[in-house]
Amino acid sequence: MGPLVIFTDLDGTLLDHESYSFRMALPALDLLKRRNVAVVPVSSKTASEIRMWMRQLQIEGPFVFENGGAVVIPPNYFPFPVEGSVGANGEVRVSLGLSIEGVRRALGEIAGELGIAIRGFGVMTTQEISDLTGLTGLELSFSMMREYDEPFLIEGDRGVDLIGEAAAARGLSLVRGGRFFHLSGGCDKGKAVKVLAELYSRMDPDITFVGIGDSQNDVSVFEAVDRSFVVLRPDGTFDPRIPEDAAERVKGIGPQGWRMAVEALFADGGF
Ligand SMILES: [Mg+2]
Repeated sequence: MGPLVIFTDLDGTLLDHESYSFRMALPALDLLKRRNVAVVPVSSKTASEIRMWMRQLQIEGPFVFENGGAVVIPPNYFPFPVEGSVGANGEVRVSLGLSIEGVRRALGEIAGELGIAIRGFGVMTTQEISDLTGLTGLELSFSMMREYDEPFLIEGDRGVDLIGEAAAARGLSLVRGGRFFHLSGGCDKGKAVKVLAELYSRMDPDITFVGIGDSQNDVSVFEAVDRSFVVLRPDGTFDPRIPEDAAERVKGIGPQGWRMAVEALFADGGF
C-alpha cells in the first residue's frame, strides 16, 4: 500500500459531539504525523473555525469548509499551480458553492412557499446559536461567519422531504448534520473531496484516499474515496441514514472510533 490521505469530518467524528474534545484520537493523530499522512478536515464548520481547530490539532494543509462550499489550499502545497482565487497570504481558494446570501434567500422562499417554520443561523441570535451549539466567545463568532452553507432547524422536523425536493428543484442541496439541517448551493463534501483527490493524485497516482465520518452529510465523502469508516454517535448507534454498505463501521463513539479506524488502516494496510 502506498501513501495515504485521510479526509475527515470534525463534529461528532474527530471531535466529540458534546465537548469537542479530540483527546481519544490523539494516539492515532500522533501515529499519522509520524508517518507523514495528510489529515484533511472536511466539515460543515466555517473556515475560521477549522483554522482554529487545525492549530489545536497541529495539522497543516488543505481543508474543506462549510460542507464543501470551498476548498482552501496553503501556498505552494502542490508542486503545480492550482486554479482558484488567491488570498493575500498566497493560499488558494476553490469556491464550489453558491454564496450564503443566495442560499439564505432561497431557504426563506422555500419555507414561505411550503408554509414550514424554519430557523436558520441568519436569523438566530448569538445567544440562540450558543445554546444550540454549546459554543461561546471567539468560537461562537467564528461559527457565525458563514459564506456558503446555512445551518437551520425545522419545527418538529416536519416537511424535511418537501424542503429537500424544493431545494433540489432549485439546484440546492439539503443535508442533515449532527445538529442541524444544512442548505447549500450546488456543492457537497464529496465534490470538494474529489477536487482535492484529483490534485493529490496528480502529485502521486498511488495515493489511497480514506474518509471518516458520522452523519448523512459524510456519505458523499465515502463515495469519493477508496476506503471509508463511519463512527458511532454519542448514543452508541450509527446514523441510520448512512447506507449499510457505504462505509466500514467502527464500534467507537466519535474520536474513539476515529482512532479505531486509523488503527484498522494500519493493521490491514501494512504501512
Ligand atoms: Mg459530523
